[in-house]
Amino acid sequence: MAKIIVVGSSSIDLVVTSSKRPGAGETVLGESFKTVPGGKGANQAVAAARLGADVTMIGRVGDDTFGESILNNFKKNHVSTRYVEPVTHMESGTAHIVLAEGDNSIVVVKAANNEVTPAYIDQSLDAFEGAGMVMIQQEIPVETVTHVSRVCKRLNIPLLLNPAPARALEDEVIQNAAYITPNEHEAEILFSGLPVSEALRKYPNKLFITEGSKGVRYFDGAKEVLVPSYQVEAVDTTGAGDTFNAAFAVALAEGKPVYESVRFANRAASLSVTKFGAQGGMPVREEVEAQM
Ligand code: ATP
Repeated sequence: MAKIIVVGSSSIDLVVTSSKRPGAGETVLGESFKTVPGGKGANQAVAAARLGADVTMIGRVGDDTFGESILNNFKKNHVSTRYVEPVTHMESGTAHIVLAEGDNSIVVVKAANNEVTPAYIDQSLDAFEGAGMVMIQQEIPVETVTHVSRVCKRLNIPLLLNPAPARALEDEVIQNAAYITPNEHEAEILFSGLPVSEALRKYPNKLFITEGSKGVRYFDGAKEVLVPSYQVEAVDTTGAGDTFNAAFAVALAEGKPVYESVRFANRAASLSVTKFGAQGGMPVREEVEAQM
């Protein structure tokens, strides 16, 4: 069983569906409202656990009812919460999501997630013992991402960095990471001025650009490879990237070759978009394997 550490955000998603997206200063009537657990870190942790990994989350929640829901959801999904400590006098992270016109718009309020600091990582170092992969995203402070990349380098644990939401990456972090997985939009921001094929060539078997329903592109050292995704009826693409990253990490940590790992991750992610909600559609191992 692959042991995976996820360092990242956890939040509650407040999800509205509406036939129309409001413009600036406009009010529209929505159709439904739901609260669902989210946050890129939590989503990736839950997705990895459903795919059969032994997952430990390193994160923070607020001392509010949302924090309790987040912890309960981890427990329900067999993610260890030993290193998820509530922050007193602070709110849990929230994401305010509008699903309209076939796409999503999201405002993220980080709150307790800002307390996933380098000092908190140092306090949680025991968690890294025996890990086969560390996963991280960018909904936590930038200095924590740098710090975790150094810890992983020191402990010789591969780091999978999902650079979402997009922000510039220090060269040191790029060097320290074993895998970097932006979507097309994030890749443009990270490697602005560099054509995609050149960026891929510069980081062979490290940079994997996800291209939605098209699949995933990378350079294998000899040639550029596009691993096609699977055709499905997409209902809600929220969390597709999170499922992709988790499945990719699980497959790699189990020792699968890169191409096979991307295929497995594409399959898992394509299944995730066929159901509502970021975590709602995340498949279990058997569902993915039955479709490979
Ligand atoms: P999100 O922010 O919606 O979670 P993302 O923008 O980070 O996703 P994408 O590149 O859109 O990432 O999708 C990640 C992966 O999910 C793709 O590489 C693909 O494997 C799968 N995927 C996404 N959308 C679809 C789709 N419509 N059909 C099949 N697979 C999809």
